[in-house]
Amino acid sequence: MFDSFNDLFCNQFTYQLKYSPKQVEQTCFACDQLAKWSELIKTEEKKGKEIEKDSKKELKYECPLSKEELGHSTWNFLHTVAAFYPENPSEKDKEYAYALINSIAHLYPCVYCSNHLKNYIENNPLDLRSSKTFSLWLCRLHNSVNKFLKKPLFNCSKVLERWKYGSKECQKATKLNLN
Ligand SMILES: Cc1cc2nc3c(=O)[nH]c(=O)nc-3n(C[C@H](O)[C@H](O)[C@H](O)COP(=O)(O)OP(=O)(O)OC[C@H]3O[C@@H](n4cnc5c(N)ncnc54)[C@H](O)[C@@H]3O)c2cc1C
Repeated sequence: MFDSFNDLFCNQFTYQLKYSPKQVEQTCFACDQLAKWSELIKTEEKKGKEIEKDSKKELKYECPLSKEELGHSTWNFLHTVAAFYPENPSEKDKEYAYALINSIAHLYPCVYCSNHLKNYIENNPLDLRSSKTFSLWLCRLHNSVNKFLKKPLFNCSKVLERWKYGSKECQKATKLNLN
């Protein structure tokens, strides 16, 4: 059908216009699968059904991640990696960071999410000169997804405060001062 996932721009707006429902079904199985979990959880909760959760308010059973959970965990991981990336990275550090982002762009199991990332990389080359430039690049990428999803945009001047040092309130609450 397609040579690879890359051949299909499985964008939420365009993919349904360009490809038959069968093609979409076959190619987007991973994002659909993830989306189904999100919908199932939301629908059951709306019906007032008690979905068994443990004390951390997570599903009690070991279910696959929803699209939101996977996205949230991925962003948490990526912003933390960028925040703790060296100030003066070696060529090897840069290679690893480049490989990490490009691997996610190819392997992320939600096709329109990974295509968003691939397109972003093509138009906005990764800036791996320092922790600050990497964090800013990621912040802008994340904001482009936030914009697409009509979520509030994050103030990128606060990206290291959020992911490395903690806000004043966080430092006060945890009695930590990482500055
Ligand atoms: C590469 C990628 C592409 C995605 N594309 C899509 C898509 O096309 N469609 C879709 O439905 N979902 C997509 N997602 C998932 C989506 O971005 C969210 O992760 C998901 O909707 C859950 O959102 P959330 O409210 O938990 O917060 P998230 O957006 O997951 O954010 C996690 C935390 O990051 C912080 N944050 C928010 N914005 C920024 C920023 N700009 N810089 C730094 N920190 C920030 C906030 O403190 C927030 O609590 C994608 C995820 C990834 C990793």
